[in-house]
Amino acid sequence: MTAKIIDGNAIAKTLQQEIALQIKERLSQGLRAPGLAVVIVGENPASKIYVSKKRKMCQELGMISQDHNLPENIAESDLLKLIDTLNKDHKIDGILIQLPLPQQIDSNKILENILPDKDVDGFHPYNIGRLSIGHSVLRPCTPKGIMTLLKSTGVDLKGMNAVVIGASNIVGKPMAMELINARATVTICRSTTRDLPSIARQADIVIAAAGVAQMVKGGWIKPGAIIIDVGINRSADGKLVGDVDFDQVKEIAGWITPVPGGVGPMTVATLMENTFYAAAVLHSVV
Ligand code: NAD
Repeated sequence: MTAKIIDGNAIAKTLQQEIALQIKERLSQGLRAPGLAVVIVGENPASKIYVSKKRKMCQELGMISQDHNLPENIAESDLLKLIDTLNKDHKIDGILIQLPLPQQIDSNKILENILPDKDVDGFHPYNIGRLSIGHSVLRPCTPKGIMTLLKSTGVDLKGMNAVVIGASNIVGKPMAMELINARATVTICRSTTRDLPSIARQADIVIAAAGVAQMVKGGWIKPGAIIIDVGINRSADGKLVGDVDFDQVKEIAGWITPVPGGVGPMTVATLMENTFYAAAVLHSVV
């Protein structure tokens, strides 16, 4: 069997086109363009690539991208001051703080100081809490984008066995919440999980988000399962690879996301979706 590819590039593009149209419509009504403040601290090369993709996408869709490039040694109090200014700025609908932050800064404190209705990454405890009770407002972008990818398969998730590999606050845990809200039966695995392959073999859906290159092997997969690969890793020869051994797994799975071109582009498009939602629904007056 050869799995069908879930084409993240194409699905993200469709979503981007819809958002661009809605922004045009807003502008034609005399409303302002949605604004996203993108804050990066320091020189982390991967963070710089992600941030430049987000800024470029804003511009392509007709959103305002307000850029803040801050030095590695910035004091926590100065970053908090910037967040306060952005919270009060009526032209800013979303505030994105690119993670990870340098050690002298308490990331939780920073994220909790963003107004929940500008928290377009969906990491504020208010938004995580709303997601966990099934009344979400702004949802974390990677898991939300994955739900869009899963929807594109047309498969009903109700009652499915889903295994999430990875339990981070930004991917694994909110992913599990999304799947619970879709009425799947969810197992969360992490580095301490015993006999992961046998747990994965029970799964109708596997979400691989451990950050370990090509760890999910063909022998872990139930025939026909849906495989979502969140991982972004460099292989020994410098190639970008996911957490799934794509060549092995595609022979057994029913559906699979590639890396690159799967979850990555969907995450960026979903950030735009959240920013548009904040502007159009949460900040609808100005
Ligand atoms: P993280 O390091 O914060 O968390 C990793 C989780 O995986 C932890 O819960 C850990 O216990 C678990 N884990 C680690 N090794 C394991 C193993 N051998 N077996 C089972 N579980 C294991 O990472 P994160 O921020 O959640 O990101 C995970 C991966 O997803 C990374 O490769 C990251 O680059 C990628 N990522 C991709 C996107 C995207 O848009 N495509 C977005 C966010 C993260």
